[in-house]
Amino acid sequence: MIDAAPGVLRVGVSGAAGRVGSAICAAVEAAEDLELAGRADPQLGVALADILGDCDVVVDFTTPDCALDNVRACLAAGVHAVVGTTGWDPEQLRGETGANVFVAPNFAIGAVLMMRFAAEASRYMAKAEVIELHHDGKLDAPSGTAARTAELMDGDVPIHSVRLPGLVAHQEVILGDVGQTLTIRHDSTDRTSFVPGVLLAVRRVADLPSSPLVGLEHLL
Ligand code: NAP
Repeated sequence: MIDAAPGVLRVGVSGAAGRVGSAICAAVEAAEDLELAGRADPQLGVALADILGDCDVVVDFTTPDCALDNVRACLAAGVHAVVGTTGWDPEQLRGETGANVFVAPNFAIGAVLMMRFAAEASRYMAKAEVIELHHDGKLDAPSGTAARTAELMDGDVPIHSVRLPGLVAHQEVILGDVGQTLTIRHDSTDRTSFVPGVLLAVRRVADLPSSPLVGLEHLL
C-alpha cells in the first residue's frame, strides 16, 4: 500500500503501455498534486487488480472489450474511474455504486467545442454528415466522438469512418443547405491533446453530481 503526501491524489493508469496511456502516465508523474500509483497493462505483466489497492482514481485507456469489467473492478474496490476507452456503453453502469465514474469519448477541448458547434448548427441547416478519421490501430468504428456528435445533433446524421496510418484523431462535420455548406473540423495531431481534460477529470471525479457522468462539457 502506497501512502501519498496529504492532498496528493494517487492515480493508477490502466492501459499504461498504450498510445494514450503512456502519455497519461508521463503527465501524472509531472503533476505536483498527483502521484502515479501504478501502471496496469498486459504488456507490463501487471493486472488492474494488482494496483487498485494503491489508487484513489484509475484512468482507463484500454480496449472496448475490457473497459466495463475494469470499471466494475474499480467500483468494487471503491476507486473512482476516469474512462477514455470508447466502443462500450457506460449506461450499463447505471445504478451501480461504490465510487464515481466519469467517461468522455473525447478529452480534447477542441473536440468538445466541435461537438457543441455542430449541435447548434444542426438546428439551422437541412442535413449533415460526419467523417471521422483515425489511425489504423483503432479497434472501434464509428468512433465514440462521432457517435456522441451525431447523438447531440438534430436529425439523422450518417457517419463515415476512415482508418489510415499517419492519422491520429480527426473529425469533420459537414452541414448542407440550399446553395451552401458549412464544415466544422477538429484535429488531434498529438495525444498530449487529451492530457489536460483527463487531469481535470481526475481532480474532479470524486465530486461528480451523478455517476456515470458522460462528456467533458459537464466539467468545463
Ligand atoms: P492502445 O495503444 O491499443 O492501448 C491500449 C492498451 O491497453 C494496450 O497496451 C493494451 O494491451 C492494454 N490493455 C488491454 N486490455 C487491458 C486490460 N484488461 N487492463 C489493462 N490494460 C489493458 O490504444 P490507444 O490508442 O491508447 O487507445 C485506447 C482507448 O482509448 C481506445 O478505446 C481509444 O478509442 C480511446 N481513446 C479515447 C480518447 C478520448 O479522448 N476519450 C482519445 C484517444 C483514444 P495489449 O496491446 O496487450 O492488448
